[in-house]
Amino acid sequence: RTGALEVGLYPVPALVAVDRILRGMNIYLLPHEWDFAFYAAMAWQSVIMAIGITLRIGLLRLERDLARAKERSLGELAQTDGLTGLPNRRAFDERDWRGGDFLAIVDADHFKQINDRHGHQAGDRVLAAIGAELRHSVAVDRGCLAAFRMGGEEFALLVAARSEDEAALIVNAVRQRVCARVASLVPELAAPLTVSAGVARIGKGGIDAAYQAADRALYKAKNAGRDRLCYEMEQRGTALMFPRRKHAA
Ligand code: GH3
Ligand code: MG
Ligand code: MG
Repeated sequence: RTGALEVGLYPVPALVAVDRILRGMNIYLLPHEWDFAFYAAMAWQSVIMAIGITLRIGLLRLERDLARAKERSLGELAQTDGLTGLPNRRAFDERDWRGGDFLAIVDADHFKQINDRHGHQAGDRVLAAIGAELRHSVAVDRGCLAAFRMGGEEFALLVAARSEDEAALIVNAVRQRVCARVASLVPELAAPLTVSAGVARIGKGGIDAAYQAADRALYKAKNAGRDRLCYEMEQRGTALMFPRRKHAA
């Protein structure tokens, strides 16, 4: 450690300097070759200081990098939902949104009944299964840009598509995969889980307007019987129904 180096080695030049002064005052005498010890000691001190400073800077740099890495991982932790591994609502709120993409809100149907019938833990496993499928979709589906757990059993999905129809097709496929994933990971459910979705374009009104529009569409999907997708058409404001998913018997 630099501390040991400093404490152990700095006295050498100091002792040599004292020796030089005492001999200068004629307090004792040594052969005059001893004067070179003074220069040797100064060179020695320079080397020791260089090593000490280099080590100290390296140590500070290391500490700074560790602190930055810790800050980064804490920041990520604060933006991640523990149960599903998805980015959370805070991540959604702090995201820099750009227009042109679509926002889908995906909400599990009658989720409360799953908790009531099978217990909160089974409910948690259903949520984790939904999260796993959404993360998988973001990883493999080029139309799925990002997924978030907004709270409870409500999720948001950012979709890249050229039209409302294409966005609806992408989200509907996600909906079906989510249901299949839940069925395979939580097979003990008395009734298969279904999910509803509302989709809207992120337009001039920004993410807030898109969220409200997608939420209206979701509300219509729920009211129309759940297990389906609605999307808001720009300007016209009508929610179109995506055909009801056929259950495999
Ligand atoms: P709808 O079809 O209209 O969406 O009905 P729903 O039952 O899915 O919706 P509701 O909002 O009535 O109930 C949501 C339930 O989700 C209530 C709450 O106890 C449960 N919930 C919220 N967060 C969690 C969670 O982290 N784990 C579990 N197990 N349940 C949760
Ligand atoms: Mg629900
Ligand atoms: Mg809900």
